[in-house]
Amino acid sequence: MNNQAIMEKALTNVKAWFEENEQRIVEVSDQIWNLAETKFQEFESSEVLKGVFREFGFEVKDNLVDGMPTAFTAEWSNGEGPTIAMLGEYDALPGLGNDLVPRKSPNGKNGHGCGHNLLGVGSMSAAISAAHAMEELGIKGRIKYFGCPAEEGGSGKVFMVREGIFKGIDAIVRWHPINITYVDMSSSLAIVSVKYEFHGKSAHAGTAPHLGRSALDGVILTDIGANYLREHIPTTVRLHSVITNGGKAPNIVPDLAEIWYYIRAPKIADVNDILKRLDKIAQGAAMATETTVTQKVVSASSETLPNKVLCERMMVNMKRVGPPAFTEEDYAFAKQINEQLTEAEKAGSLRMFGINDPAWGKKDLYDVIYENMNEGKITPYSTDSGDVSWQAPMCQCFVASQTIGSKNHSWEQVVCSGMGIGHKGMLCAGKIIAMTALDILTDPDLLAAAKAEYDKVLETNEYVCPMPADMIPGAQ
Ligand SMILES: [Zn+2]
Repeated sequence: MNNQAIMEKALTNVKAWFEENEQRIVEVSDQIWNLAETKFQEFESSEVLKGVFREFGFEVKDNLVDGMPTAFTAEWSNGEGPTIAMLGEYDALPGLGNDLVPRKSPNGKNGHGCGHNLLGVGSMSAAISAAHAMEELGIKGRIKYFGCPAEEGGSGKVFMVREGIFKGIDAIVRWHPINITYVDMSSSLAIVSVKYEFHGKSAHAGTAPHLGRSALDGVILTDIGANYLREHIPTTVRLHSVITNGGKAPNIVPDLAEIWYYIRAPKIADVNDILKRLDKIAQGAAMATETTVTQKVVSASSETLPNKVLCERMMVNMKRVGPPAFTEEDYAFAKQINEQLTEAEKAGSLRMFGINDPAWGKKDLYDVIYENMNEGKITPYSTDSGDVSWQAPMCQCFVASQTIGSKNHSWEQVVCSGMGIGHKGMLCAGKIIAMTALDILTDPDLLAAAKAEYDKVLETNEYVCPMPADMIPGAQ
């Protein structure tokens, strides 16, 4: 049987599996939505996922990384063959909890404002349905799901990369909920998040200022230096800061102060170069103010390396599966969510993907497939999946799981992640990932071409883990 014929059978098989298990998948997703555990605290969420994997005959391994008990892997093998990796996330965002109504109604809890309940469970359903199809159709190989904690500012996957957890995989297939459906070939920005803590001497600011050495002065001089640095760095670099501790009261010379930077650039090598220069500025500021400074990197991740060969095949499978099947109820709910938005605001939310048709401003759900993969573009966000993409050829897609006009990290995404709109996106993504994995497993030439492309990129780009060797999970 050629690959095309196998994939036809695979599509029938995967669709049937989803039909049979749809209700269960949605229940698991809603369970994790309700738990809404934040980074490194995903104890119950990871247990729920592990339980489902065990039930479907996957071998679960945990305690993989010291200090990160919510990381795990779940694998299933059908004999000798390539290993396809799927990535799961399940962390929520602090304070974003919202009632399940189509308007802003904070409930004081944490919330799935990035849809990671959908992400984790969608990839889980992909892994289990792919394993089922492999068994039924006699497809050899291995499916390995990586349960990855703390995507939100915790760089969970980078710790897993540093520990070698991703060794031995042949390809990676991932997705993320967003407001359109497409295969994403854009890269992300590399990032280092770094804190500088200054220590000085406190004194009465009125009677004995000459005895004080202000830690806040060190912080302020550092930021002035950083402003001058901005003129002499590539225009593609973004440097943002907040002062997280500036002292207690104006009449006390602060003996402790802290400033926190994000350095972002298209290449991790540029980020690391600017980090060294920022370190010098902080040291100079310490010398000038007779204070001392300690530097601590709190998270870091590399840019994404998209694999064109795999992305193109993922698009084939996205078309086989089709866009999310939203219902009338979903459209009505979306309309209510979008009540406050103008048509221009809705259409404008799609511009970052290169979608410029103002007609989208009249709609509330993106219900087709966008075929432009944005090859060569850089989307201005950072993700710890970037580091995973350096471990093997990776393809990724975005699937509409929220309204046109809504953004990630918003109440709109929280609400959509817990109801029909998000469910449809998740079920669609699960099928696309399963189909792409089965396609890679049954087409050795495809995998060879993907690996050749990946090897060529690595010939001129060495992967260096951006995280200091002594950094521990959750230390920020
Ligand atoms: Zn996310």
